[in-house]
Amino acid sequence: MKELLSEDEIQAGVERLAGRLRADFEDRPLTIVGVLTGSLILLADLIRRLDNPLRVALIRASRGRAENRSRTALVIDDTLLPNLAGRDVLVVDDIFDTGHTLVEVVAQLAKHGPKSIRSAVLLRKTGRSDVAIEPDYIVFDIPDEFVVGYGLDYVDRFRNLPYVAALEPTDLTKD
Ligand code: 5GP
Ligand code: MG
Repeated sequence: MKELLSEDEIQAGVERLAGRLRADFEDRPLTIVGVLTGSLILLADLIRRLDNPLRVALIRASRGRAENRSRTALVIDDTLLPNLAGRDVLVVDDIFDTGHTLVEVVAQLAKHGPKSIRSAVLLRKTGRSDVAIEPDYIVFDIPDEFVVGYGLDYVDRFRNLPYVAALEPTDLTKD
Protein backbone atom coordinates (compact mmCIF):
# COMPACT_ATOMS: atom_id res chain seq x y z
CA MET A 1 0.00 0.00 0.00
CA LYS A 2 1.03 3.59 -0.53
CA GLU A 3 1.15 6.10 2.34
CA LEU A 4 -1.00 9.17 1.63
CA LEU A 5 -0.83 10.96 5.00
CA SER A 6 1.91 10.38 7.54
CA GLU A 7 1.29 10.10 11.25
CA ASP A 8 2.80 13.59 11.73
CA GLU A 9 0.62 15.13 9.00
CA ILE A 10 -2.50 13.61 10.55
CA GLN A 11 -1.60 14.80 14.04
CA ALA A 12 -0.96 18.33 12.72
CA GLY A 13 -4.32 18.19 10.90
CA VAL A 14 -6.16 17.10 14.04
CA GLU A 15 -4.53 19.96 15.94
CA ARG A 16 -5.74 22.42 13.25
CA LEU A 17 -9.27 21.03 13.59
CA ALA A 18 -9.12 21.31 17.37
CA GLY A 19 -7.95 24.92 17.06
CA ARG A 20 -10.91 25.80 14.83
CA LEU A 21 -13.35 24.10 17.21
CA ARG A 22 -11.85 25.82 20.26
CA ALA A 23 -12.26 29.17 18.47
CA ASP A 24 -15.76 28.49 17.10
CA PHE A 25 -17.29 27.00 20.26
CA GLU A 26 -15.21 28.72 22.95
CA ASP A 27 -16.77 27.66 26.23
CA ARG A 28 -20.14 26.55 24.83
CA PRO A 29 -20.76 22.97 25.93
CA LEU A 30 -20.46 20.62 22.98
CA THR A 31 -21.64 17.05 22.49
CA ILE A 32 -19.24 15.25 20.17
CA VAL A 33 -20.86 12.26 18.46
CA GLY A 34 -18.41 9.82 16.91
CA VAL A 35 -19.67 7.58 14.11
CA LEU A 36 -18.55 4.03 14.83
CA THR A 37 -16.40 2.38 13.94
CA GLY A 38 -14.19 4.41 11.64
CA SER A 39 -14.10 7.62 13.70
CA LEU A 40 -12.72 5.91 16.80
CA ILE A 41 -9.10 7.05 16.50
CA LEU A 42 -9.94 10.56 15.33
CA LEU A 43 -12.44 10.93 18.17
CA ALA A 44 -9.88 9.87 20.77
CA ASP A 45 -7.17 12.18 19.41
CA LEU A 46 -9.50 15.13 18.88
CA ILE A 47 -11.17 15.21 22.28
CA ARG A 48 -7.79 15.20 24.04
CA ARG A 49 -6.89 18.41 22.20
CA LEU A 50 -10.07 20.26 23.21
CA ASP A 51 -10.62 22.14 26.41
CA ASN A 52 -14.22 23.17 25.73
CA PRO A 53 -16.69 21.59 28.14
CA LEU A 54 -17.73 18.51 26.20
CA ARG A 55 -19.59 15.25 26.29
CA VAL A 56 -18.68 12.29 24.12
CA ALA A 57 -21.36 10.15 22.50
CA LEU A 58 -21.48 7.41 19.89
CA ILE A 59 -23.70 6.40 17.02
CA ARG A 60 -23.11 3.47 14.71
CA ALA A 61 -23.52 3.49 10.96
CA SER A 62 -22.81 0.36 9.00
CA ARG A 63 -23.47 -0.99 5.61
CA GLY A 64 -23.79 -4.74 5.43
CA ARG A 65 -23.07 -7.02 2.54
CA ALA A 66 -25.67 -9.19 0.90
CA GLU A 67 -24.85 -12.77 -0.05
CA ASN A 68 -24.07 -11.65 -3.59
CA ARG A 69 -21.53 -9.22 -2.01
CA SER A 70 -23.45 -6.11 -3.11
CA ARG A 71 -23.76 -3.37 -0.49
CA THR A 72 -26.96 -3.33 1.54
CA ALA A 73 -28.77 -0.34 2.99
CA LEU A 74 -27.11 1.77 5.66
CA VAL A 75 -28.12 0.73 9.16
CA ILE A 76 -27.93 3.38 11.88
CA ASP A 77 -27.95 2.38 15.53
CA ASP A 78 -28.61 5.37 17.79
CA THR A 79 -29.42 3.41 20.93
CA LEU A 80 -26.13 4.42 22.59
CA LEU A 81 -26.88 8.14 22.39
CA PRO A 82 -27.49 10.22 25.51
CA ASN A 83 -30.25 12.84 25.54
CA LEU A 84 -29.38 15.41 22.84
CA ALA A 85 -32.35 17.75 23.30
CA GLY A 86 -31.21 21.38 23.20
CA ARG A 87 -27.54 20.43 22.77
CA ASP A 88 -24.93 21.71 20.33
CA VAL A 89 -23.82 18.56 18.53
CA LEU A 90 -20.70 17.93 16.47
CA VAL A 91 -20.76 14.69 14.45
CA VAL A 92 -17.30 13.31 13.76
CA ASP A 93 -16.70 10.78 10.99
CA ASP A 94 -13.67 9.32 9.28
CA ILE A 95 -14.43 10.04 5.65
CA PHE A 96 -16.91 11.84 3.41
CA ASP A 97 -17.16 9.93 0.15
CA THR A 98 -20.57 10.12 -1.56
CA GLY A 99 -21.91 11.86 1.55
CA HIS A 100 -24.88 9.53 2.01
CA THR A 101 -23.68 8.31 5.41
CA LEU A 102 -23.34 11.83 6.79
CA VAL A 103 -26.75 12.85 5.42
CA GLU A 104 -28.44 9.88 7.05
CA VAL A 105 -26.58 10.22 10.35
CA VAL A 106 -27.43 13.94 10.55
CA ALA A 107 -31.11 13.18 9.77
CA GLN A 108 -31.18 10.58 12.54
CA LEU A 109 -29.51 12.92 15.04
CA ALA A 110 -31.98 15.68 14.14
CA LYS A 111 -34.81 13.49 15.44
CA HIS A 112 -33.27 13.80 18.92
CA GLY A 113 -34.00 17.54 19.05
CA PRO A 114 -30.51 19.08 19.34
CA LYS A 115 -30.11 22.86 19.21
CA SER A 116 -27.57 22.61 16.38
CA ILE A 117 -25.70 19.96 14.40
CA ARG A 118 -22.28 20.53 12.83
CA SER A 119 -20.10 17.93 11.21
CA ALA A 120 -16.39 17.24 10.94
CA VAL A 121 -14.53 14.64 8.89
CA LEU A 122 -10.87 13.73 8.68
CA LEU A 123 -10.99 13.01 4.95
CA ARG A 124 -13.05 14.05 1.95
CA LYS A 125 -12.65 12.33 -1.39
CA THR A 126 -12.56 14.79 -4.25
CA GLY A 127 -15.23 14.67 -6.92
CA ARG A 128 -17.37 11.97 -5.29
CA SER A 129 -20.10 13.88 -3.46
CA ASP A 130 -23.61 12.90 -4.39
CA VAL A 131 -25.49 15.04 -1.83
CA ALA A 132 -26.37 18.68 -1.18
CA ILE A 133 -24.52 19.06 2.13
CA GLU A 134 -20.82 19.44 2.89
CA PRO A 135 -19.12 18.72 6.21
CA ASP A 136 -18.56 21.94 8.20
CA TYR A 137 -14.98 20.92 8.99
CA ILE A 138 -12.76 18.93 6.64
CA VAL A 139 -9.20 18.14 7.66
CA PHE A 140 -7.82 16.71 4.39
CA ASP A 141 -8.99 16.41 0.80
CA ILE A 142 -7.71 13.21 -0.78
CA PRO A 143 -7.88 11.68 -4.26
CA ASP A 144 -10.54 9.10 -5.09
CA GLU A 145 -8.74 5.99 -3.84
CA PHE A 146 -9.70 3.37 -1.28
CA VAL A 147 -7.88 4.28 1.92
CA VAL A 148 -7.19 2.49 5.19
CA GLY A 149 -5.60 3.31 8.51
CA TYR A 150 -6.26 5.75 11.34
CA GLY A 151 -9.62 4.06 11.98
CA LEU A 152 -10.48 3.12 8.39
CA ASP A 153 -10.63 -0.57 7.56
CA TYR A 154 -10.59 -2.96 4.69
CA VAL A 155 -12.72 -5.95 5.77
CA ASP A 156 -11.99 -5.10 9.42
CA ARG A 157 -8.20 -4.82 8.97
CA PHE A 158 -5.79 -1.89 9.11
CA ARG A 159 -7.78 0.36 11.49
CA ASN A 160 -4.78 0.45 13.82
CA LEU A 161 -2.30 1.94 11.33
CA PRO A 162 -1.20 5.36 12.63
CA TYR A 163 -1.07 6.73 9.05
CA VAL A 164 -3.50 6.73 6.10
CA ALA A 165 -2.62 4.64 3.08
CA ALA A 166 -4.25 3.89 -0.27
CA LEU A 167 -4.69 0.21 -1.00
CA GLU A 168 -3.14 -1.14 -4.16
CA PRO A 169 -4.55 -4.04 -6.20
CA THR A 170 -2.11 -6.52 -4.63
CA ASP A 171 -3.35 -5.61 -1.12
CA LEU A 172 -6.84 -6.72 -2.08
CA THR A 173 -5.85 -10.30 -2.86
CA LYS A 174 -3.68 -10.81 0.24
CA ASP A 175 -5.30 -12.26 3.31
P1 5GP B 1 -20.30 7.76 1.99
O1 5GP B 1 -21.60 7.38 2.60
O2 5GP B 1 -19.89 9.20 2.21
O3 5GP B 1 -20.19 7.36 0.55
O4 5GP B 1 -19.21 6.85 2.66
C1 5GP B 1 -18.84 7.05 3.94
C2 5GP B 1 -18.52 5.74 4.61
O5 5GP B 1 -18.03 4.76 3.67
C3 5GP B 1 -17.39 6.00 5.57
O6 5GP B 1 -17.90 6.27 6.87
C4 5GP B 1 -16.60 4.73 5.48
O7 5GP B 1 -17.12 3.81 6.41
C5 5GP B 1 -16.84 4.19 4.09
N1 5GP B 1 -15.78 4.58 3.13
C6 5GP B 1 -15.88 5.43 2.09
N2 5GP B 1 -14.71 5.54 1.44
C7 5GP B 1 -13.84 4.73 2.09
C8 5GP B 1 -12.44 4.41 1.90
O8 5GP B 1 -11.74 4.88 0.99
N3 5GP B 1 -11.90 3.55 2.79
C9 5GP B 1 -12.61 2.98 3.81
N4 5GP B 1 -11.96 2.16 4.60
N5 5GP B 1 -13.91 3.27 4.02
C10 5GP B 1 -14.52 4.13 3.17
MG1 MG C 1 -17.85 4.88 8.51
